Amino acid sequence: MNAKKYYGGCLCGNVRFEITGDIKNIVFCHCSQCRKAQGSAFATNGNIDKNDFTFTAGEDQLTAYKDGSLTKYFCQQCGSPIISKNTAKPNTVRVRLGAIESSITERPEAHIFATSKADWEEITDDLPQYESYEPTR
Ligand SMILES: [Zn+2]
Ligand SMILES: [Zn+2]
Repeated sequence: MNAKKYYGGCLCGNVRFEITGDIKNIVFCHCSQCRKAQGSAFATNGNIDKNDFTFTAGEDQLTAYKDGSLTKYFCQQCGSPIISKNTAKPNTVRVRLGAIESSITERPEAHIFATSKADWEEITDDLPQYESYEPTR
């Protein structure tokens, strides 16, 4: 049993979740879809083992946007993006890092779809930048 426990939730508080494992493969995604979905320059997402992610409140308050194999889940009251699931990776939940309230020990590893970034954004850190997905995916 992994002792690590992170908590998070949506802006209005209706949706709550906890994480009992590691957050893996954290990346900043600058693709145009992530920018629209977040209303910002990029999305920051990480992978969690399906068994390490639990909704503790408000799972029925989620609504979803399905696009091919990908489904993005967000709070129907406040619109906060929470997770996405990919039918091609059924054992993985992809969490939106901004929804996590705990201090986390993992750190972002890369910028992906860096060449799709908004022209008003400047990437100023030294993390590797990839034109598409990170090569380890
Ligand atoms: Zn909410
Ligand atoms: Zn993206």
